[in-house]
Amino acid sequence: MPNGKFNTAYLAPTSGEPVGLNVLRADGIYLYDLQKKRYIDLISGISVNNLGHQNPEIIKAIEKQIHEYLHVMAYGEYHQRPQHNLAKRLSELLPETLNCSYLVNSGSEAVEGALKLARRYTGKKKIIAMRNAYHGSTFGAMSVMGSNKFTQAFSPLLPNVEFIDFNNAEELHKIDQDTACVIIEPVQGEAGAIPADRDYLEKLRDSCTQNECLLIFDEVQTGMGRTGSLFAFEGYGIAPDILVLAKAFGGGMPLGAFISSQAIMKSLASDPILGHITTFGGHPVSCAAALANLEEILKQNVIDKVAEKGAIFRERLVHDSIKGISGKGLLLALHFETNEFAKTVIKNCRENGLLTDWFLFAENCLRISPPLIITDSEIETSCSIILKSIEEAL
Ligand code: PMP
Repeated sequence: MPNGKFNTAYLAPTSGEPVGLNVLRADGIYLYDLQKKRYIDLISGISVNNLGHQNPEIIKAIEKQIHEYLHVMAYGEYHQRPQHNLAKRLSELLPETLNCSYLVNSGSEAVEGALKLARRYTGKKKIIAMRNAYHGSTFGAMSVMGSNKFTQAFSPLLPNVEFIDFNNAEELHKIDQDTACVIIEPVQGEAGAIPADRDYLEKLRDSCTQNECLLIFDEVQTGMGRTGSLFAFEGYGIAPDILVLAKAFGGGMPLGAFISSQAIMKSLASDPILGHITTFGGHPVSCAAALANLEEILKQNVIDKVAEKGAIFRERLVHDSIKGISGKGLLLALHFETNEFAKTVIKNCRENGLLTDWFLFAENCLRISPPLIITDSEIETSCSIILKSIEEAL
């Protein structure tokens, strides 16, 4: 009933001021509201729709799978082709040490699995995470979230978690022989799209190897081409021991994964058996969508143009009110002076037909994370709308 009243009381709120856009449909880089107003989607449902909305190959794969089977059994028990085909394709694209995928439903759940795997495999307890990191909202994932403002109301969280400064090599000495794992986003998303320095990641990799602890890369936001390589770690020339994926991984369907070597992954299957269980993880429809998404991303060569497209945003978005642009590829943050100003620009953008957003830990920033298929001329149009919205906010 597209014209019926939307009663927000039935759905639990997440904030006091939701955007409340009434979505009619979505197509390519566009979203339409009930009044058929068209919006450029410059956030892709928070870095999810890397091929835009309603990609025909993804829709086709979903349609094919729904006629074969939906859920048949909890993860791990039966042979399900969509899961197998996806995991096999991933192993062809990833280094040998990342040849075994555990499929789950979401980013938070993949982070939970990765942390559990690191503790179980190493037999050690200490976890090191980064200040200003975001890894999800479940208790384990929230325990490695680097912001007291968002976590303290839910304490106590997991014990044995220590935080260090992102990109500060002087704190790497805190990694020691008691450390089970270090978890890091190669580009910190919610901190305002802050890329790790290559030199820092190399030192971090060395330190983890020396201390026999596992390096976890949370690529929930950076995966599937977003930063200019299929996975951000490839752009840095080092590999993690566990790779965490979600968001764009499912091609618009709910899907997550934590990926490691067969030898490491085996430790969740014994002593006790069923060390990690999920009913719906690796849902066949999500896996079919994910494989179509992955093949299309590779076939359409979208990744090759990500750096260039990011550069157009950086060139065009010049204004006295823009204090800087951070990020990598098409995961960008425009920095303004204040949160109020950023919020006004975001609101103006929406009125002018463009959807953007802020960041959890960088409230003075505006998020740019469009579908990777956005064309150069659509980027030009988007930048004009943003600049106009900035002028209107002054
Ligand atoms: N890790 C990162 C880097 C994320 O950005 C997010 C979601 N914003 C998550 C984990 C959690 O993913 P989900 O919301 O699917 O649980």
